[in-house]
Amino acid sequence: MTDETIEAGRDFIRDIVAADLESGRHKSVVTRFPPEPNGYLHIGHAKSICLNFGLAREFGGRCNLRFDDTNPTKEEQEYIDAIKRDVQWLGFDWGKHLYHASDYFEQIYDWAVLLIRDGKAYVDDQTPDEMRLSRGTLTEPGKNSPWRDRSADENADLFKRMRAGEFPNGARVLRAKIDMTSGNINLRDPVLYRILHANHPRTGTAWCIYPSYDFAHGQSDAIEHVTHSICTLEFEDHRPLYEWFLDNLPVPSHPHQYEFARLNITATLLSKRVLNALVTGKHVDGWDDPRMPTIAGLRRRGVPADAIRDFIKRIGVAKANSIVDSAQFDFSVRESLNKTAQRRMAVLRPLKVVLENYPEGESEELEAVNHPDDPAAGTRKIKFGRELYIEADDFMEIPPKKFFRLSPGSEVRLRYAYFIKCHEVKKNAAGEVIELRCTYDPATKGGNAPDGRKVKATMHWVSAKQSLPAELRLYNPLFTKPDPDGSNFAADINPSSLEVLQGRVEPALADGNAAVIQFERQGYFCPDIESKSGKLVFNRTVGLRDTWAKVAASGG
Ligand code: ATP
Ligand code: MG
Repeated sequence: MTDETIEAGRDFIRDIVAADLESGRHKSVVTRFPPEPNGYLHIGHAKSICLNFGLAREFGGRCNLRFDDTNPTKEEQEYIDAIKRDVQWLGFDWGKHLYHASDYFEQIYDWAVLLIRDGKAYVDDQTPDEMRLSRGTLTEPGKNSPWRDRSADENADLFKRMRAGEFPNGARVLRAKIDMTSGNINLRDPVLYRILHANHPRTGTAWCIYPSYDFAHGQSDAIEHVTHSICTLEFEDHRPLYEWFLDNLPVPSHPHQYEFARLNITATLLSKRVLNALVTGKHVDGWDDPRMPTIAGLRRRGVPADAIRDFIKRIGVAKANSIVDSAQFDFSVRESLNKTAQRRMAVLRPLKVVLENYPEGESEELEAVNHPDDPAAGTRKIKFGRELYIEADDFMEIPPKKFFRLSPGSEVRLRYAYFIKCHEVKKNAAGEVIELRCTYDPATKGGNAPDGRKVKATMHWVSAKQSLPAELRLYNPLFTKPDPDGSNFAADINPSSLEVLQGRVEPALADGNAAVIQFERQGYFCPDIESKSGKLVFNRTVGLRDTWAKVAASGG
């Protein structure tokens, strides 16, 4: 056990691994992360990645990246590439241990033939409907297939012809011969192979029969000498079948399956089926839309990899399902960004301010700190002049009690600059405030009055001349309910999950290449990849406080 283990916290899986190493049952730990390349990885997968790669790192073993590529109709090279990129970005390295279930197709096929020879597998000609009906239910046993007692020779011949492509999709399957009356439905003669005339991203047209998840998965683990095969709780009922295969085949090793609770987050659906439907239904702008809980979406939104790892560490690994509040994730993101993000000023909803006593055509440079807790981050110069923009929300013509920001007659501090006072409000024909006529007090340079008078608010601002126009994209949860309905998710989609504002930012952000920054009083933002094409676009990674919870509670 290393220091890192202690830091990572202990959980029942780490306890099992530690005990297995201590007792000598295993010399070293081998885990795997086994994604099916049928979509992009999401934050739920990050939990599995951190666990599997984390165990290998903490206990000095290894973790394989294995693509579970047994269903060519849904799998694509794009997904394979995206998964590799995301695992690496999360900070993990499979080294030379990159594998595919398809690497083992020939071996898995040979083992199927062996089961046939041993009278433990048969070719079933029933239609999919007939098979479903004869499988029984949780309370009723299943019925034997009329094809269950075919001779080994006949089964071997038919299976060979299945492989040779003689039959259309769905015409026949190969099933294990276990027990149609078992209380565990997974043991009721599970399907081992189905016919699928489809092009596979790696094996092309070499195969037209593909092994089932259950038949491929455990055997792949055994081939790779995986010691601890860790999966989510829904596979608990598959464990007896996992072991049946290992017990009935001459596999080179005998892995053990352990199950842990999958990650669920409020107002978030972590299912590739749903995420795929969000993309194809154009509810979002691709797999990396910053509203998506995908690793690619979170990265584009500006979430650092260490914040994801920190979140996973904090929630821990348990055996009971639960739902984590999304506020917990935001907490980890803020924790990480607060330390690293430089401060800048940006006005999201600009309202023009004219300082009538500031000389026309003049300007001056003021000094602003880049990080309040990190002097090493230095300072920068910002331009101040007669015309500025402030946040429209920071002004109220008729302020309620306790509104301390700008209103006619009140005095406030502009950050790093001066005290200002408003004495006239200009409106357009519709009666909307379009400009404030103000004065500044030249004696308050730097933000303090020599006579000691105080103001109750400090506001951010930008120079009207020097600031740059920028599009600011604010993201809210994709679903309105804390527990959206996965089977009918469209009904629960939040119509205001994306708010697009045209604001103004400091010129220091001109290149659109900055890392995540904090716009003072507004939140953490990062330049969107679209910024590269000329116009500046910023994504709000996360707000400074949990404003969403308040909005949701007030029903608005
Ligand atoms: P989804 O339900 O999103 O379609 P999946 O289980 O079908 O996910 P796989 O590609 O098979 O997707 O998953 C790879 C690994 O990630 C599996 O071991 C799976 O158990 C794990 N995993 C998937 N979703 C979660 C989650 N929400 N929390 C923790 N682990 C997960
Ligand atoms: Mg799966």
